[in-house]
Amino acid sequence: MEMTMLRFLESSGSTAIRNRPALFGCPLDQTSTFRSGSDKAPKAIREASDSIETYSPFLDRDLIDYKFADLGDIDFSNADMETCLNRIESFCSTILNHGAKPLALGGEHTVTLPIVRGLNKVCQDFVVIHLDAHTDLRESYEGASLNHATVIRRVVDLIGSERLIQLGIRSGTREEFAWMKQNGTLYQWDKGSEKSVLKRLNNREVYVTLDLDVMEPAFLPGTGNPEAGGWFYDDLERFFKMLTSVKLIGADVVELNPGLDKSGMSSVLAAKIVRELLLII
Ligand code: MN
Ligand code: MN
Repeated sequence: MEMTMLRFLESSGSTAIRNRPALFGCPLDQTSTFRSGSDKAPKAIREASDSIETYSPFLDRDLIDYKFADLGDIDFSNADMETCLNRIESFCSTILNHGAKPLALGGEHTVTLPIVRGLNKVCQDFVVIHLDAHTDLRESYEGASLNHATVIRRVVDLIGSERLIQLGIRSGTREEFAWMKQNGTLYQWDKGSEKSVLKRLNNREVYVTLDLDVMEPAFLPGTGNPEAGGWFYDDLERFFKMLTSVKLIGADVVELNPGLDKSGMSSVLAAKIVRELLLII
């Protein structure tokens, strides 16, 4: 896919990226509790992207027909968590000011919050679709209010539960599952489930946060907290198919851990997922 070949910076003119995806890496890995290493993910995804085709037979679209920006990685060196998140939010705001659509490569799942904050300043009625094995709805985790296990709760604090749809979730506390039931955020993802998701969306714009551990770990072992019983690729394709019929304003792909990806297949799958998202956005 050679994303680096297609890289162009803002110097090419702001109109060049209007309405186009602007890819950027968020190599953040400060709160991983089990197995760290997701900060290496943006680099691994870009490298893997060189090994796959630009053409998606599933979407019948080719990256060579679409312009997008790859703005590189945000620099987090010597920065504490708050500084990192502020940098992501202002980076995202810059992208939005140019009329482009953010497509972020994590990093840990925490990166989603500042992106949603940035989006929420310019659009107040979008829905977040959260794909994950885990609820990520804890009020606090290991004494901290913001990390990969609480990030979606913090998103809900910002936008409310009615603007959240969760898919693929199969791990969390009893309390988190009770919360999802009470708030109606968790949807089944069987054939035909698209109808109820689209009904909830009701034509509103959509932001997708895709924690790669939503996938079955047999296909994507390179992630910090693998959870059996995950999505097969055709579940994801059905999701992408649905996305082609909605107004997608941005996305993130998080929690790839290249250090745990012995065969490299997780990075290649992540790159394919990013290609499809680029083509859909
Ligand atoms: Mn997860
Ligand atoms: Mn997550």
